[in-house]
Amino acid sequence: ATDHAGLVIIGTGMAGVGLARALRRLDDHRAITLISADSGDDYSKPLLSTGLAKRQPPERLAQRSAAALADELDARVITHTRVEQLTPKTRTIRLSDGQRLGYDALVLATGAAPQAPFAIPESVSQRFFSVNDLDDYRRFRAALDEHPARVAVIGAGLVGCEFANDLHSGGHQVTLVAPEATPLARLLPEPLGNALGDAFQDAGIQLALGRTLADISAGSNSAVQLTLDNHTTFEVDLVLLATGLAPRTALADAAGLDASRRGIDVDRYLRTSDPHIYALGDVACVAGVNAMYVQPLQASAKALAATLAGTPTQVSFGAWPIIVKTPLLPVVAYPPAASVERWRIEGEGGDMSALGEDKHGNLVGFALTGGCVRRKVELSRAAPVLLG
Ligand code: FAD
Repeated sequence: ATDHAGLVIIGTGMAGVGLARALRRLDDHRAITLISADSGDDYSKPLLSTGLAKRQPPERLAQRSAAALADELDARVITHTRVEQLTPKTRTIRLSDGQRLGYDALVLATGAAPQAPFAIPESVSQRFFSVNDLDDYRRFRAALDEHPARVAVIGAGLVGCEFANDLHSGGHQVTLVAPEATPLARLLPEPLGNALGDAFQDAGIQLALGRTLADISAGSNSAVQLTLDNHTTFEVDLVLLATGLAPRTALADAAGLDASRRGIDVDRYLRTSDPHIYALGDVACVAGVNAMYVQPLQASAKALAATLAGTPTQVSFGAWPIIVKTPLLPVVAYPPAASVERWRIEGEGGDMSALGEDKHGNLVGFALTGGCVRRKVELSRAAPVLLG
């Protein structure tokens, strides 16, 4: 038998929950069902990488349980259940418990999944973690809480740098390993990346940049032995993988919706190639832009709620700078959408600014560190919007 569920939202991350909240704010009383593969606890994902510095245990990060969320939203919230199949033709989905649900409108807010770029030997796999939701974080903190640990963070993007800084504030001994020569290479031109690297190193974080892992094996006392491509070997207690996220497009792919490695393709109304199915958040590629950040998903939730409530509304993304939570050296970056003809770099030590200009001298993006981060408001006003 197929239950009929009205509006179905797959995913209870900030995108799925944000959409349900935005709909209720518009006084929309339709039946809403939210489905999550995880616990469905309501939490703010950006806080996962500041939990140690702020001394917040995982319990404090869950703002609401799934049951409280269901109450607040007057919605049905199904947890620890995966949606395994989507059939657009009959407008039904099949859940991992065998249940089938029919929908009027379906929203894919399935986020993005951590990627491991190499195989992890079975003998040490218990010591490898990636943290992309509160359940992951609970496991990671449980492993850390025993005693100060030696932790290797693999990957020096936003997530890797934030965790390296946070683990360091929590008293752990951190080694940051990444193939790029400088941290945050996708956000910061080299001199600013070096400034962050220097701040990390001065604080005692070990850097192994420009390096990849050549070997992983069991070390002494249940430690993990890591060997880099320059043959350096060292032991750690835990390894945190921060090697990137890929949009979870499997359901959409299997259902024949348009999608690519950058996400499920949606138009400015957040509509997929099927008129009854929408997507937003980390899984969505909106008019060619896949921005895995909070501001674009909030703007998307607001626009989609209006559309579903009867006022078709296109989403726009502002010029929203990314604030990297590395208190050892504050960083703000607005990566250029257009190609940069030249970077105008000023400042010294930790206080640096880099303005990216196109061939006409127009500002197309910027990056700031240390005391220069205060220029973010002024520069955001001058920079082009991400999706106008
Ligand atoms: P998710 O939160 O990943 O939610 C996906 C949901 O889909 C989950 O509930 C999952 O269980 C469910 N799901 C997936 N597949 C299925 C299925 N088949 N069946 C059922 N359910 C399914 N952004 C910022 O703007 N500023 C920051 O400071 C910042 N800091 C960050 C720090 C960290 C450590 C991380 C990892 C990210 C950070 N981000 C930050 C990015 C931001 O948190 C994400 O863009 C945002 O949380 C994504 O939300 P989402 O709802 O799209 O996806």
